[in-house]
Amino acid sequence: MEEKINNFMAQVEAKNPNEPEFIQAVREFAETVIPFIASKRKYDGKHILLRITEPERTITFRVVWVDDTGEIKVNRGFRIQMNSAIGPYKGGIRFHNSVNLSVLKFLAFEQVFKNSLTTLPMGGGKGGSDFDPQGKSDGEIMRFCQSFMTELCRHIGPEIDVPAGDIGVGAREIGYLFGQYKRIRNEFTGVLTGKGLAYGGSLIRPEATGYGVVYFTEQMLHTIGQEIKGKTFVISGFGNVAWGVALKINELGGKLLTISGPDGYIYDADGISGEKIDYMLEMRDSGTNRAEMYVEKYPNAVFHKGKRVWEVKADIAIPCATQNELNEEDAIKLVENGVICVTEAANMPCTLDAIKYLLGKKILFAPGKAANAGGVAASGLEMTQNSIRLNWSSEEVDNRLKEIMVGIHNQCKKYGTDETGYVDYVTGANIAGFVKVADAMLAQGIV
Ligand code: GLU
Repeated sequence: MEEKINNFMAQVEAKNPNEPEFIQAVREFAETVIPFIASKRKYDGKHILLRITEPERTITFRVVWVDDTGEIKVNRGFRIQMNSAIGPYKGGIRFHNSVNLSVLKFLAFEQVFKNSLTTLPMGGGKGGSDFDPQGKSDGEIMRFCQSFMTELCRHIGPEIDVPAGDIGVGAREIGYLFGQYKRIRNEFTGVLTGKGLAYGGSLIRPEATGYGVVYFTEQMLHTIGQEIKGKTFVISGFGNVAWGVALKINELGGKLLTISGPDGYIYDADGISGEKIDYMLEMRDSGTNRAEMYVEKYPNAVFHKGKRVWEVKADIAIPCATQNELNEEDAIKLVENGVICVTEAANMPCTLDAIKYLLGKKILFAPGKAANAGGVAASGLEMTQNSIRLNWSSEEVDNRLKEIMVGIHNQCKKYGTDETGYVDYVTGANIAGFVKVADAMLAQGIV
């Protein structure tokens, strides 16, 4: 089996040189799915994995805009249309200086199986730009978004490809992108999700990724007879995902000890709850000296400059920031400190070595494609509301979200439970996500 996996990976590496993030995501998937394919005549020998790792379409384009001083700036825009077997391409747009083809291909690849797990009819895609929104004025953000959409609008549509937000793209950016699409195409449709409530957005969409992560964590804890109430949490990040996680942890009676940014982390022994959670958003929007702001306002909190949040002792760890932010060393530290569960809220935040270590120690571990699927699931619910031209209440969206997260957990259990009763959620999520996409591809012929 190992030889089969290595042969397959050698082919993928040869076709995709200098794409370490994409190769990492494919390897994590291939190691669990290749043995499954080999055991099923229906899938074996059809080269489904070779087909599934090749994007259906890769679009790159020039984005030119003018900054506040009148200088002309040039960035690169991308949209990866990875797989449309089960629905229109669906996935976020990321604006960050680390964006490149490899990063967006890994995200688009993960998105295919994440979207499949939601059971909603959404294919997988991802887009973005190496544009860095840090320190840009509102006018610069608007002009950049308009220029980006001027090209992207030819490739998307409510039945073709429905982008949403991701790192660096929130409600404000979605508004500017939507406005430009509407102006050029002269049509008002649900072409983007994460829209403002006034123009077709869905209640609970901003909270959905974080809420879904905590619902999933709750399900994992139930398998070992535990619950969120009374548990301590260490999380990274202070963006939209961390915010939703913080709200739901508190609602369910957990205690949140940390938030973190690129320059270190804040430890608050009193717990981050109530108005402190809203303050996270203010800090995010302020741009600079965020940790100083928090510590000044809440003097019991301590800022650990240049330190990694994973050194903190807690029952549950939830990486909410970005790819490869938790390595094997961090995983060892967490286990030494008695962690019982690690839930990936960001996309691919744990390195392959960290995942192997945690699974080896039989810690509850949830991969992002299962645990953070609540965001795109709520996007799918926004698409439904746009299609039927109705708005559902918060309660209705939240109930559906919870139902979807419980469903994803059940699918992971179905395909990931080993002979000892331990659930390997990596194997479970990969196989469950794969089956639906592969069945649709086989049914639709060699295209
Ligand atoms: N960017 C989010 C994700 O990684 C949401 C995508 C969407 O709503 O389309 O799943």
